[in-house]
Amino acid sequence: MTVRTRFAPSPTGYLHIGGARTALFSWLHARQNAGAFVLRIEDTDRERSTPEAVQAILDGMTWLGLDWDEGPYFQSQRTDRYREVIDRLLAEGQAYHCYCTKDELDAMREAQREAGHKPMYDGRCRNRSEPREGVDPVVRFRAPDAGKTVADDRIHGRVAFDNAELDDLIIARSDGSPTYNLTVVVDDWDMGITDVIRGDDHLNNTPRQMQILAALGVEPPRYAHVPMILGEDKKRLSKRHGAVSVLQYRQDGFLPEALINGLARLGWSHGDDEVFTRDDLLRLFRVDDVGKQASVFNQDKLLWLNGTYIRAREPAELVEPLTEQLQSRGLDPAAAPADLEAIIASLQERSKTVAEMADTGRFFFADFEAFDAKAAQKNLKPAVEEPLQAVRDGLAGLTEWTAESVHGVIQAVVDARDLKFGKVAQPIRVAVTGGTVSPPIDVTLRLLGQATTLERLDRALVYIRERAA
Ligand code: GLU
Repeated sequence: MTVRTRFAPSPTGYLHIGGARTALFSWLHARQNAGAFVLRIEDTDRERSTPEAVQAILDGMTWLGLDWDEGPYFQSQRTDRYREVIDRLLAEGQAYHCYCTKDELDAMREAQREAGHKPMYDGRCRNRSEPREGVDPVVRFRAPDAGKTVADDRIHGRVAFDNAELDDLIIARSDGSPTYNLTVVVDDWDMGITDVIRGDDHLNNTPRQMQILAALGVEPPRYAHVPMILGEDKKRLSKRHGAVSVLQYRQDGFLPEALINGLARLGWSHGDDEVFTRDDLLRLFRVDDVGKQASVFNQDKLLWLNGTYIRAREPAELVEPLTEQLQSRGLDPAAAPADLEAIIASLQERSKTVAEMADTGRFFFADFEAFDAKAAQKNLKPAVEEPLQAVRDGLAGLTEWTAESVHGVIQAVVDARDLKFGKVAQPIRVAVTGGTVSPPIDVTLRLLGQATTLERLDRALVYIRERAA
């Protein structure tokens, strides 16, 4: 049988880390088995579902490279089909109308609590067929009273649920709209889903869904319930822990391959290895090897991974993400004084995010307004004026502008004065970048170009003289 998995998000917010991991595991499982990956948007909650959230899910998945073979299907467009299945269950006696009022249900639960029982629907409408004046009935599934429903979960193993503990679930509300457990069952059935991979917050829904499938005479899919994701404080991952939206990571300068790698490691491991490319995952990942324990999301590790992947990319492959970062800062990549790829090559070694590349390299794309106060205080002192002027004059005389020729000028100034290289290099850096962080100084100047370098050195010399005056 062809493997068919699905990702079934509710579009009530952005695509978050937990959802993206579920999508990744489902995608990997489908791709490893030459199967199909289906995308289904569970938008039956009309109040909370928004088109923006749908778009954010599609964008997030596209950015992560989790391509789907079918869909997106929208549950909101399948109402007739759900109605058909509800009617069938009603006609076959597998479901019934329930006319209980809220007061009646409250009283029932209260009595159960008083008697020391777990409150649950007692099935009193199972055999009550006559409608009640003024009550729009809900439809309940007639759940089996005895025996067990057993799920062989790929992650949790054999999980048995006592049928007596599961009451008659509402499958259609009084306005006729179907409920979550019904829609999922119908969709997984119609879409031929063989493997359901989802968060273990849905484990308790599984016996309900299996019971409905059994009533419809349908084989259940195989289930894999992946564990929860926690923040480093061991609390459920939330906004408090920083970015949780996939697209926020993109904005923060992460590469999709870093996020994919980080997501895969949430609950899954392979020896002590940390770095897994998409191809590695396609080869090594097994959904059966995912652990049951909740996993902790570690931002520092993700940053480290991101740095690794930034260094692994060819400069040309960083043009697009860097352009995005520059534009979001109002900087024009076309204003680069040199080939963008050469600038990228100079920045990529030390940057953990593409955002950091844009921040560090800002001076290439726009002049700065003022020197960083602390940097100027420390580096643009009167004692620096003379060697800086000498460097400026030496650079002005260069007819060939290369990192080597630039280096030669600085080295000669340093040697003649018996100074340490950094004593001259750092003031130059502050002069041309405004701050203290940049690629090696010769590379920086070479990329910045002769004219801009001289202009900025002159400005720094004026600044030193004015400060001294
Ligand atoms: N729509 C559900 C959710 O977003 C997922 C349902 C499922 O995977 O069965 O939690």
